[in-house]
Amino acid sequence: MIEVISESRCVACDRCVSVCPTNVFDRAEGGIPVIARQSDCQTCFMCELYCPADALYVDPDSEKAVGVTEALLEERGLWGGYREKVGWGKGRKPVAAHEYMYQLSVKTGF
Ligand code: SF4
Ligand code: SF4
Repeated sequence: MIEVISESRCVACDRCVSVCPTNVFDRAEGGIPVIARQSDCQTCFMCELYCPADALYVDPDSEKAVGVTEALLEERGLWGGYREKVGWGKGRKPVAAHEYMYQLSVKTGF
């Protein structure tokens, strides 16, 4: 479930607002979006994926909010973790280049 938007990282581009399929965020005039309907989050990670500043954290627990703090995420280096794994963002390894994808192509033989 969506947990936090980092006030210090967010560049107020509103991409998260646009990509969220369940309209969880509200735009804020000249500022960072507001998590207005947290319980509507379906833990799809799209907001994290599209955030250019790694300013969002979505927790894998889709049932309840875990209440993690911005400071703890900073300390543990968890901002944008999903985006990093998928390989989006400068200097990251695209998912198509992962060993698993090579193994998959060998198995399918296409
Ligand atoms: S994880 Fe998906 S549903 Fe939840 S806030 Fe982000 S984009 Fe919206
Ligand atoms: S996509 Fe990221 S940087 Fe853009 S408004 Fe949302 S949290 Fe802020």
